Amino acid sequence: MKANIKSILEQELITTDERMKTLKQSDPFMDPDHVIDNAAVDTDVREQEAHMRIEAETEELNDRVLTINEALNRVEKGTYGSCKRCNTTIPDKRLELIPESLYCVACEEELKR
Ligand SMILES: [Zn+2]
Repeated sequence: MKANIKSILEQELITTDERMKTLKQSDPFMDPDHVIDNAAVDTDVREQEAHMRIEAETEELNDRVLTINEALNRVEKGTYGSCKRCNTTIPDKRLELIPESLYCVACEEELKR
């Protein structure tokens, strides 16, 4: 599994990037007609909400890209699979589920607080 982790992570980067592009295209604020659009107020609110949702998800995806890049760095350095915080070996099961994991479950929980 560790042998192809680099390509798994690289594939994740591509998928994340594509998702971001799709998101951007679905942003009503990206619609060139939006500026001159004199739509009703409720349409405006709906577009605002859609825009906020897209912004939030884009931010999440951006974080993900950073994490994946860091994981790739750790593959290069040979530290991939060890928790960044406590240095414990991250279980393969977890890495299979979330290949870009930088922390073990315990530390991840700690950091979320
Ligand atoms: Zn840890």
